[in-house]
Amino acid sequence: MAPDLHDIVDEQLRRTRQRYTRGRRQLVDLLVETGRPVTIAELLELGASQSQSSLYRNLAILEQCGAVERLTSTDDVARYELTEELSEHHHHVVCSVCGRIDDVVLPPAIERALGAAAAEAHDQRGYEVDSHRLELVGTCGSCG
Ligand SMILES: [Zn+2]
Ligand SMILES: [Zn+2]
Repeated sequence: MAPDLHDIVDEQLRRTRQRYTRGRRQLVDLLVETGRPVTIAELLELGASQSQSSLYRNLAILEQCGAVERLTSTDDVARYELTEELSEHHHHVVCSVCGRIDDVVLPPAIERALGAAAAEAHDQRGYEVDSHRLELVGTCGSCG
């Protein structure tokens, strides 16, 4: 049986000598629910029942242990999402007006082409490429 998401986070936190508190579990649940990177303000709107300072601290601890990734957007406001270890490989599309970020899962043919780009980086510059990021920038449905 595949390990439960919460078991993985629990293990990640243990490795950094932190506990999986109720507040942290709630944040992981909220990030699973939203399915896109969200700001602290959005986490509060979504019902995170903790003070803003606890939110910052819990997110920093979840980031430190590798469960959460912090992204900065076009509006310079930090957004948080689960790392790919806990979700799936994906890319981001960013709104240049309001800073909203959504996840995009690309078809295998495009991922293969990005793999070829890694080989190209190796051939041209001698890098061993082990991952890639692709960010699409545009205008979201609310701003367009
Ligand atoms: Zn927008
Ligand atoms: Zn990819």
